[in-house]
Amino acid sequence: MTRLVRAAYQGFDPDLAGRELRELVTFDRYQASAGAEGAAVYVAERAVAAGLDDVEVHRYPADGQRRWWTFAAPMSWTPERAELTLLGVDGRPDEPVVSYPEQPYRLAFQSAPTADQGVVTPLVLWSRWSGGPLPGCTVVVDTPGLPLVAVAEAGAIGVVVGGGPSDDDLARRLELPNGSTLFGFSVSPSQLRRIIAAAAAGGSARVTVSVRRGAGLPVVTGRLPGSGPGGVLLCAHLCHPAPSANDNASGVVALLAVARAAAARRSQLRRGLWFVWGPEFVGLAAHLHEHRADPARTGFDLAINLDMVGEDQRVCGGPLIVERSPDHLPSYLNAVVERCVESLPPTGRSFSSAVACDTWSWRATPFVGASDHLLPADRSIGRPSVQLGHWPDRYHHTSADTLDKVDRAELRRVVAVTSGALATICEAGAADLPEIERLTTAWGAELIRSCLQPPAGAREAGPGDFDPWCDDARADLLEHRRRVAVASVGSLSSLDGGSGDDRRRTAERWLDGLADHLHVIVAGETVAGEAVAGEAVAGEAVAGEAVAGEPAVVDRGPSLIPGWPGPFNLRALIEDASEADRAWLSEQLALDGPGAYATFVALAHSLDGHRGAGAAIRWAAFASQLPISVPLATRLFAVLRDTGWLAGDPAPVGAEP
Ligand SMILES: [Zn+2]
Repeated sequence: MTRLVRAAYQGFDPDLAGRELRELVTFDRYQASAGAEGAAVYVAERAVAAGLDDVEVHRYPADGQRRWWTFAAPMSWTPERAELTLLGVDGRPDEPVVSYPEQPYRLAFQSAPTADQGVVTPLVLWSRWSGGPLPGCTVVVDTPGLPLVAVAEAGAIGVVVGGGPSDDDLARRLELPNGSTLFGFSVSPSQLRRIIAAAAAGGSARVTVSVRRGAGLPVVTGRLPGSGPGGVLLCAHLCHPAPSANDNASGVVALLAVARAAAARRSQLRRGLWFVWGPEFVGLAAHLHEHRADPARTGFDLAINLDMVGEDQRVCGGPLIVERSPDHLPSYLNAVVERCVESLPPTGRSFSSAVACDTWSWRATPFVGASDHLLPADRSIGRPSVQLGHWPDRYHHTSADTLDKVDRAELRRVVAVTSGALATICEAGAADLPEIERLTTAWGAELIRSCLQPPAGAREAGPGDFDPWCDDARADLLEHRRRVAVASVGSLSSLDGGSGDDRRRTAERWLDGLADHLHVIVAGETVAGEAVAGEAVAGEAVAGEAVAGEPAVVDRGPSLIPGWPGPFNLRALIEDASEADRAWLSEQLALDGPGAYATFVALAHSLDGHRGAGAAIRWAAFASQLPISVPLATRLFAVLRDTGWLAGDPAPVGAEP
């Protein structure tokens, strides 16, 4: 495996990737826009040059109506020009404060167009709005919160939003819903100060927004067939406004380099590769839904997503993140990808040179699903999926995500890891399996061993949270991880049709034995006798018991049966929810951002059709490694029930029978 990773590392052409990156960031890649279509044509040309077969640019309708499962098509929207000019006291225009496209990122996605000559609009400070009518006004959001629905209902025609507290003079991404009646500007702190001053003085602005319709939703696909069935889906989302260099021009370009490396080894492929570049979530949803019955297009059994893979770690502030396949889809894929990261050539060595040292860093994290890998990893599709990306990134979704934030050495590492993993998986014959089994066994052993103590920096539980690291849940956590570890080794059966199952059973038994031994330690002296047998503490049998010092997670209710079509889609759930629930869901996301998103996704994935609410909460906490608020989970299940996304009636969590 080290050999495969190093070969891919040596074969990477940083100048070619740099040229492709420079070209790609010139396209303004809003979903379903002329810019996205232009980028798709360019990527398709490069994919052909890379040596992929059957390269196609699909063009799905972008009418805001079409649904792929619950994923709604965006409305075709290509911004042409936008300006916001403050009017002086004499009503004469000043210099424009905001000009698009000269200042990228400043115009909100799906902004409503104005009349050709523009509109004159009074500026109203959000902090001073008393709730009265706002006919033809533009609301300047000068305190936190984005009151889109309220101000639109009051008759406002636009909003101006600042980038929040930041020393950088940059604009943050702003997205309005399909068919928005508002235009929106997302401005830098210095621009916001000028506009607030004008609004405070009772001023007005002239605003012009011109938009073209007619572009479709472009999805580029290509493939490399294997000599046998199955293989890996590779995706990198094409969208986001220019430049969005790391998110996600870097992923698109990295995947082109992966395609070149794989095409050069095509004669050795036993399993195929499927490549997809499309607008995030909705592009892949359209593709997977339209071709769900066609194994020539969707016959993959694993997936790797590349999103934000080029970050200069020192500048952007975060490590390379390997986001693991979710725990309902245990797979050797995690172990292989992580081993490939470890197999990169070290950037330094210790004083005696005995130990490899690196000047960059990486982490493996539990599944979150905030990008395209959410779709294949859903229970409804069920393909183990890993993502490579970076977090945190201080320039994420801002106008400052520019080419200078990309480090070609980092891009090279990600390409080498992905290519090495693909060569390992797609070229492996029976003789190669023992090596993959050993590293998967080692990976599983570490997963089990790490139950002994919470990782340093584990997220602290608050009142009302179920803490996956609380002492009393440790035995259940160990059982959870035992199953993931053993099933990860078992998943290798798909690579040799089961011929190595006997050998693998030895590894599985060893992992079982390791877990049994750890039970003695984590269960403590009092139940050590029973714990060794592994019965009394085994998994979900006791998932319903209230834990001392923890909120009672009683599981006496019926099984929760997911009833929504296709992959879980939080955005669609929010749209289906009642007004009060919509506000509640949005508030949770505003308060806790990715943590709330990851919690909701883990809770959705916990619903296997058998678990009740209590067991679902515990599973989600073990899988996400997040403390999960029991009231929050209970409310989410109620929202799912009320929207018809859940079949059956969830019992109130914690209620006595
Ligand atoms: Zn992204």
